[in-house]
Amino acid sequence: MIRVFDTTLRDGEQTPGVSLTPEKKLRIAESLDRIGVDAMEAGFAAASQGEMEAIKLIADSGLRADVYSMARGVITDIDAVIKTSAVGVHLVIPSSDLHLQYKLKKTREEILKITSDTTQYAKDHGLKVELSAEDATRSDLNFLIKMFKSGENAGADRLCPCDTVGVLTPERTQELYIELKKSFQNIPLSVHCHDDFGLALANTLVALKFGADQAHVTMNGMGERAGNASLEELAVVLKAQYNVNLNIKTELIYETSRLVSRITDFPLQPNKSIVGENAFVHESGMHTHGILANPSTYEPFKPEIIGRTRRIASGKHSGSTGIRASLNEMGIEPNNEQLKEIFLRVKSIGDKGKRVADADLQAIAEAVMDLPMLRPIKLEEITVVTGSNVTSTASVRLNLNGNILTEAATGVGPVDAAITAIKKAVGIVEPIQLDNYSVKAITGGTNAVTEVAVSLSKGDRKSTAVGVNEDIVIASVEAMISGMNVLMTNYNNRKVKEKP
Ligand code: MN
Repeated sequence: MIRVFDTTLRDGEQTPGVSLTPEKKLRIAESLDRIGVDAMEAGFAAASQGEMEAIKLIADSGLRADVYSMARGVITDIDAVIKTSAVGVHLVIPSSDLHLQYKLKKTREEILKITSDTTQYAKDHGLKVELSAEDATRSDLNFLIKMFKSGENAGADRLCPCDTVGVLTPERTQELYIELKKSFQNIPLSVHCHDDFGLALANTLVALKFGADQAHVTMNGMGERAGNASLEELAVVLKAQYNVNLNIKTELIYETSRLVSRITDFPLQPNKSIVGENAFVHESGMHTHGILANPSTYEPFKPEIIGRTRRIASGKHSGSTGIRASLNEMGIEPNNEQLKEIFLRVKSIGDKGKRVADADLQAIAEAVMDLPMLRPIKLEEITVVTGSNVTSTASVRLNLNGNILTEAATGVGPVDAAITAIKKAVGIVEPIQLDNYSVKAITGGTNAVTEVAVSLSKGDRKSTAVGVNEDIVIASVEAMISGMNVLMTNYNNRKVKEKP
């Protein structure tokens, strides 16, 4: 059985610009536990008081997964781990001459003794020891083996040759693990890869094939520099391509990815494998045509496997089949002539370099087909209070099909407060979820026009909408409401307005 050792909360937290409070770390730890990681490295206990508290909070929270803390080959680091009540220590000691000479200023003999002494000390205090050689992949192999032997003799539970700067290739990974397996038959091996050359996943797979049985990974591939091998890629490639199941509940991958991205404030590139915004979006005519006939034509695996749905986008590359499918979701059924006209207008907007959100597509269809503009939700008023010593608060009055809804909410900032208030007001009637929010300044300067794009979902239905305004709050509110209106639009059973 291949085990997952998640290090989102340690290597992942070392992502430049990311820093988490103990409460946030706990929320991520709980979601990692829910998805089924076998072990998690919750942090580096000796780094700070807050870090130690975070690890203790997680270790004491009754998770099913084994909780580890990182430590260097220093007794006081291990003492810090002991105080957290973590079950294990991820003991990281450099093995390359480069690190010995420039970072530690220690000899190889000293490193062997440190490895033996600290492993022994951790074991004496009842800790499981995951012994990692840092920069192992640029180390002298004979010395690496010697160092691992010292650890094994002192009672280490596992060995991990870390590819700290991501220099492995699949071929070198194979050689390394074959060699290590010859010397270490009675102690399990882990693999820890970084993605500096985009090979982290490939190298991890090769290591698993040639002797490792535990992979160090992070959610969303977070981590130092180009990041670590990613949990979602490993779990899905093993399931879909190798028919190997981990303890990971893959159907929770998308929601876990979103939660980690939100809490760490670390956005994902749209074309990120598995969890990127575009991973199941189809725009080009040829592709949507195929997808609508049989999704396997242009999808390597079903989006349901990771708990998400596919979406057909409209734009320059659209085909008429995809546009018709998007309109049908709103209950709009154009005849062939109308569809042709809608299709031409979508293309001409796309040609100007603009994205065509679902809300735009709806407006185009209404104009072409002379439909009454159905906008169930209208904004009557919104007030936002924000500042440096006040909690951002928003109150909103909406008109939903003639009924007035009033709500207020607080948020981390004015946009969050406003969106939360709208979601609360509409949520009473319709459970609509905000899946993605992105903002860009169209022009430079503080008076820039802001463009906010949102993706929303209601059950299986999805919608995208854009709001443009000088005021970021208003732009956000406009995008939200127009996206919600798409989801609530249903032209079925509605008479098309007769032309006079
Ligand atoms: Mn690392």
